[in-house]
Amino acid sequence: MIVVMSTGSGEKEIKEVVKRLEQAGFKGHLSTGVERTVIGVVGAAPGLSDLRETLVLLPGVDDVVPISKPYKLSSREFQPVNTVVNVNGVRIGGGQLVVMAGPCAVETEEQAMSTAHAVKAAGASILRGGAYKPSTSPYQFRGLGEEGLKLLAMARQETGLPLITEVLSPGDVDLVSQYSDILQIGTRNMQNFVLLDEVGKSNKPVLLKRGLSATIQEWLLAVEYVLSQGNRQVILCERGIRTFETHTRNTMDISAIPAIHSLSHLPVIADPSHGTGRQDLVTPMSLASVAAGADGLMIEVHPTPHLALKDGAQSLDFEQFSELMNRIAPVAAAVGRNIAGRES
Ligand code: PEP
Ligand code: MN
Repeated sequence: MIVVMSTGSGEKEIKEVVKRLEQAGFKGHLSTGVERTVIGVVGAAPGLSDLRETLVLLPGVDDVVPISKPYKLSSREFQPVNTVVNVNGVRIGGGQLVVMAGPCAVETEEQAMSTAHAVKAAGASILRGGAYKPSTSPYQFRGLGEEGLKLLAMARQETGLPLITEVLSPGDVDLVSQYSDILQIGTRNMQNFVLLDEVGKSNKPVLLKRGLSATIQEWLLAVEYVLSQGNRQVILCERGIRTFETHTRNTMDISAIPAIHSLSHLPVIADPSHGTGRQDLVTPMSLASVAAGADGLMIEVHPTPHLALKDGAQSLDFEQFSELMNRIAPVAAAVGRNIAGRES
């Protein structure tokens, strides 16, 4: 449920409500709007309905309203205004289209540097790249580990692009945070609750990919783990789900984009590289995602996709990526967005 404070209420009244919640075994999460503060009540203690009756009696409380959805802090009921995640000045969810691009996996210094420069020149505003790679098969390339993080950090330094990279295990959150500006949680880890708790305690923005077979509700419940630990800087990423179709690697669920926008205040971006697994479908699905209102795109780019150690079949070369950027610009403009970092 949420406690809606009256417009004139101040810090003292808010503190009193939070204290009462804690006494009853719950936690209060504040959403501070322009006019009034809303306090989200989360926790599994008994006696929620009794608490509701007494909370309305406290000074400064206007109303106490149940949240109809099982996810709470991610819901629009708790926070009607969009969350904007600020990554070193790049604002995700603030109305612009933010493009994150780079290799699936970092392979060499030359590959990381040339790709970072190419995606920047084409108008990307965030660099992506994997150092710790989750793989379906243990025999695939599993990434360069910390060496890869160092190469990515060099590429960030040279281009000035903020960096996103995946963290695979709770024990690596501190290390990856030393290098990365955004912590990516991959599809296979969407329900790794220990990892979600850990990134929830970090002060870095988190990008949470949709699980391979996760419903939208399961995805939003996963995000609650991060939010309820206190980290409110979260971006969602639709990256395709498992269906009976085999022509594509996954089935890109474009409808998830407007669905998330109506259910949640969190930004949502699209990853048509993993969503389709096919180079030829990345651009059309990017266009569709932008038209559907995505706050950003994540695109895999490689200097020579046919030689890539991972995900070459879905990676664009530099020219194809630059072409993609040119093609999305008018679609973005048609839905009232411009591309962050690019002259429009
Ligand atoms: C990736 O971004 O390279 C990746 C492994 O993504 P996903 O978790 O969506 O498969
Ligand atoms: Mn990949």
